[in-house]
Amino acid sequence: MTSRPGWAKHLNPVLAELSPYTPAAGDYPVRLDANEAPDLLSPAARHRLNEATAHIDWRRYPDAGADALRQALAEHSGVAANETLVGVGSDELISMLLRTFAGSSKQPPLVLTLTPSFVMYKMTARIHGHRVLELPLDEAWDLDLDAVQKALEFAEPSLIFIASPNNPTGTMVSPDRLRALVERAEGSLVVIDEAYVDYADNNQLALFREHANVMLLRTLSKVGFAALRVGWLIARPEIVEEVNKTRLPYNTPVPSQQLALLAVTELGQELERIRQTVRDERERVTRLLGQRPGIEPTQSQANFIWFKTSEPAEHVYQSLKRQGVLVRSFHKSGGRLKHYLRVTLGLAAENDRFLAALGALS
Ligand SMILES: *Cc1c(COP(=O)(O)O)cnc(C)c1O
Repeated sequence: MTSRPGWAKHLNPVLAELSPYTPAAGDYPVRLDANEAPDLLSPAARHRLNEATAHIDWRRYPDAGADALRQALAEHSGVAANETLVGVGSDELISMLLRTFAGSSKQPPLVLTLTPSFVMYKMTARIHGHRVLELPLDEAWDLDLDAVQKALEFAEPSLIFIASPNNPTGTMVSPDRLRALVERAEGSLVVIDEAYVDYADNNQLALFREHANVMLLRTLSKVGFAALRVGWLIARPEIVEEVNKTRLPYNTPVPSQQLALLAVTELGQELERIRQTVRDERERVTRLLGQRPGIEPTQSQANFIWFKTSEPAEHVYQSLKRQGVLVRSFHKSGGRLKHYLRVTLGLAAENDRFLAALGALS
């Protein structure tokens, strides 16, 4: 028997069921697995970003509250500065929300999420000792209101996480179902993760305005600035004030604050160009995928396409990989996901290479 080291007894027992988040390693000529934006930044914008970093005072801590950025993000989103909070990606805000709404009872708080959806809700909730209830989406990848109703009768969640547009399906929850959920879950906080809102036809700002238990998450990661790790929460000022107490000091680095500010102000047209190009490519690639026998694309509101393959997804995934095209497969989750893949929309040339590789499966 191998003996456990002395420190092992101090480990958080939840860690035994978790593994670190590890994106696929290696170099691929066509990398369409992480929902990053295509490389469309203009040379002028690149130059402007470099120039901005030239003036940074490297000795100084960042502005702790990221006030200038907060103001700019608030304007960018159409809300007030005191309704926003900046985090190191929306991932950090998910973690801050879980620390804020940690409950007071002996019973650990319950977090409600949907499946398939973004895995960080569940992973981060487990790390923080919350219980997690995952409800499957219906056949059209929409919210199953009956299942939600039953769950709400069983226990009151502290937080309900819903990605809209959803990752990996690219679909939005029907507006009437989302509204019904928010109204039925009056005693819970509903976090609507709008990581892909720039690519969608609409957003949930109106719902946020109408309901004090609704919060939104936004990020720059999917529109061309994943390198900065800047996300923000949109919530009532009273909620922002509480969540802000869980923020580590100086969380957002100076380069991220300054360059994100540039991105949403001066470089606004760059974001718009990325957004439009991706949406055009989405239409084109969806149409071409739909013409392929054995392939069924789902209408997407995001910068990726979720498609069904008659062949097992794992085979398709491995064959694409051998041809230098990396997409995302969820076959390990089993069930209906064994026949679905998610491909991020890249530059037209990258998307063409993906389509060609898909036509040459081996
Ligand atoms: C990619 C993604 C995020 C991560 O956002 P960061 O701001 O990069 O931390 C959040 N939510 C969803 C649904 C995502 O797909």
